Amino acid sequence: MGCAPSIHVSQSGVIYCRDSDESNSPHQTTTISQGTAAATLHGLFIKTDAAETIPSVITYQSRHSRNNSHRGRRENSGGHVRIEAETQTSHASVKQVSATEECVGPMRLTKEPIQVLLVFAKEDSQSDAFWWACDRAGFRCNIARTPESAVECFLDKHHEIIVIDGRHSRYFEPEAVCRMIRATKPSESTVILAVVPQKLPDQEEPSVLPLLCAGFSRRFVENSSVSACYNELIQIEHGEVRCQFKLRACNSVFTALEYCQEAVEITSEDHIIQYVNPAFERMMGYHRGELIGKELTELPKSDKNRADLLDTINTCIKKGKEWQGIYFARKKSGDSIQQQVKILPVIGQGGKIRHFVAIKRAHTDNNNQVLKMNKEDRCSGDHSQSECHSLRHRDRRKDSIDARSVGSRGSDAPSLQNRRYSSVARIHSMTIEAPITKVINIINTAQESSPVTVAEALDRVLEILRTTELYSPQLASKDDDPHTNDLVGGLMTDGLRRLSGNEYVFSKRTYMSQSQLAIPVTLSDVPPSIAEMLNDEERWEFNILDLEAATHKRPLTYLGLKIFTSFGVCDFLNCSEATLRSWLQLMEANYHSSNSYHNSTHAADVLHATAYFLRKERVKSSLDQLDEVAALIAATVHDVDHPGRTNSFLCNAGSELAILYNDTAVLESHHAALAFQLTIRDGKSNIFKNIDRNQFRTLRQAIIDMVLATEMTRHFEHVSKFVNSINKPMAAIEETSTSSTNSDCEGQSNIRNSPENRLLIKRMLIKCADVANPCRPLELCIEWAGRISEEYFAQTDEEKRQGLPVVMPVFDRNTCSVPKSQISFIDYFITDMFDAWDAFASLPNLMEHLSENYKYWKNLDDMKCKSLRPPPPS
Ligand code: AMP
Ligand code: ZN
Repeated sequence: MGCAPSIHVSQSGVIYCRDSDESNSPHQTTTISQGTAAATLHGLFIKTDAAETIPSVITYQSRHSRNNSHRGRRENSGGHVRIEAETQTSHASVKQVSATEECVGPMRLTKEPIQVLLVFAKEDSQSDAFWWACDRAGFRCNIARTPESAVECFLDKHHEIIVIDGRHSRYFEPEAVCRMIRATKPSESTVILAVVPQKLPDQEEPSVLPLLCAGFSRRFVENSSVSACYNELIQIEHGEVRCQFKLRACNSVFTALEYCQEAVEITSEDHIIQYVNPAFERMMGYHRGELIGKELTELPKSDKNRADLLDTINTCIKKGKEWQGIYFARKKSGDSIQQQVKILPVIGQGGKIRHFVAIKRAHTDNNNQVLKMNKEDRCSGDHSQSECHSLRHRDRRKDSIDARSVGSRGSDAPSLQNRRYSSVARIHSMTIEAPITKVINIINTAQESSPVTVAEALDRVLEILRTTELYSPQLASKDDDPHTNDLVGGLMTDGLRRLSGNEYVFSKRTYMSQSQLAIPVTLSDVPPSIAEMLNDEERWEFNILDLEAATHKRPLTYLGLKIFTSFGVCDFLNCSEATLRSWLQLMEANYHSSNSYHNSTHAADVLHATAYFLRKERVKSSLDQLDEVAALIAATVHDVDHPGRTNSFLCNAGSELAILYNDTAVLESHHAALAFQLTIRDGKSNIFKNIDRNQFRTLRQAIIDMVLATEMTRHFEHVSKFVNSINKPMAAIEETSTSSTNSDCEGQSNIRNSPENRLLIKRMLIKCADVANPCRPLELCIEWAGRISEEYFAQTDEEKRQGLPVVMPVFDRNTCSVPKSQISFIDYFITDMFDAWDAFASLPNLMEHLSENYKYWKNLDDMKCKSLRPPPPS
């Protein structure tokens, strides 16, 4: 009939046991050594005989388990060997020790038997009385003899009740022991009882305060009657222990709140914020510490309409009804966020509303309709039981239902209404909405609660959103600046669709193939003069025109070999240098050397700028090697087979390519498509032949995306996306950070490294590389301006010759002011873009050149000079 279930072996390696069952007293002691512990599990009581110096804990599990089977378990933990005998109850009828159930709100909890720790230096009738009281109550009990073993045992078991012997301070100070235990975290929910001596007949009743101050919860006047101890323990159990048990169950509710997706805010009845969850912090941009204890109205002040809305909400929730609706809240950043909100009053002390729980989620307009519908139902139907809040601030639109609050959705809502609500919700949840529709809906909703001036401004915003090409700037007036007009018209549209007659040109184009190419050079064959020139390649001021001359107009192959090698492209693609060489030659051969601007020197120039940007720290740390390889390949091929005419020209002329690509991104589509066709056509120059299908697809996608990004019709879209998604968020982090802490860097690198933003960075990179000529040293800049002007002049000549619409009339060789055209090009396309790129990649020398070059053109223009250079002094 043994019942001692667990035995502790202290560091000293001595186990102290006592028979607790056979005798009715816990006083028989046996000392055994660690090696024989397992053999003596049954019916033994643990006790120290090594005086009071050895930490000891006596464990007793009440006699509910007298018919139990036992199973011994040894484990090593923290320097202690613990041997526990687990008990398995053989009958269900065993007295009250089985787990009981408790309810907290709707939660049903299972309560394990109570654990009691007796801290008694010496066993006596008092400790025995508690011992047997525990037994009677079905509580588990441990006895600790020293303060240290008490703490150790408590930290192990987290007892609900601790009884500390406070009758004699010979062994330990009871207050000190209590403080030691209270210093531990789990003691928060433990009841600590002080056993105090009986007062002498003529003694004053001592104050309980010193005990309370030491952390005791209660005082028990010494009484060795088992019943007295039993009564004390079960009173504690029914009172404080039960409350603590329920309170601790709330931890799971808080865990749910902490991790749930919806923002939750709990306030007091007078709107003092008591709790917000992390989703709330994320949504509003505040830290919890900034909010808790603040009054809701201390948050950024709202306008009059918001105050009206708050009144409406208050009226509803103060009546104990739930309020549900949509409103705009101000985030810490000052931005507004439209939220779908539910506010629930919670009854507390005195049967009064003591808290308001607000549950919020960012509102998408799918739900708006649902709410509007619901509101209509309520207003038109029976709303005697429901609160209807109409926020009719500005009912400017006849057909707009402006109420977005639907009052309480009490259990009394008619079932028809609920069915309607859910079916409308279903319909709306099926709607696939474009982001622009959501934007328009949000603005519509905002208008309804905005002052007239704001609502009217928003009307204009809506007009733009509904009707205009979002990223194409509209020039103020046609006559403003013909250079800008022509450039914008020429570069940013796909032609004037005024075709006169049947001018569709179906010329059969042939492309240079591998077999037609001269014997390729190897990197080691590169003539010393060229090799020396290439040593300068990493500098921005590298002179591509010198390389063009030295290589007899084949700068792309030589520079490509050098740059691709330095970026480890062959290793990445697992291709030989010979394949790379053939590929570079093939690409270069398919550039038109007859074009003054769009020839392989321009491609080499763009490749050079690309490599230069890729080496910039910020760029390097944002992209991976696949991105780098893709960027270098994209730069190399980005204008391949350029006919020296603009997209507009090709569309107007009804060229084969314009027909093929439906007048849309004609050239860029052609460059990308042809580059892949040529590459794959011949194994000798197929640099992709050794990479796997997935890698090829990823690389191909990245290359195509970059080549298409060079198309100027989407110039402003790419730049503004880069500014909004990268520049601004990065600047915001810089502004808010006091120092360059790790988390700031982490915040910035999170921005840079997201896949969407890496895409924007790559687009911006190739775009800037493509039109970097105004940022080159003056001589190069002038040469490029001359070349592009010549190409435009040639186009105008041809347009005139063929009777086609003249896309850029200012680029007439007889009348054109090159300085003016360069000023317009820089003003319109270059300055903002390079400001943004410089802010990201840090390019002080480019910006310096740009500013110098701009001054140069301004100066010429001031001198009324229309040519590339000032006239020679007379
Ligand atoms: P891409 O055809 O890929 O080189 O795209 C760049 C566009 O910018 C082309 O349409 C060029 O004509 C134009 N562009 C580049 N540099 C200049 C410049 N200095 N002046 C005027 N237009 C330029
Ligand atoms: Zn280009």
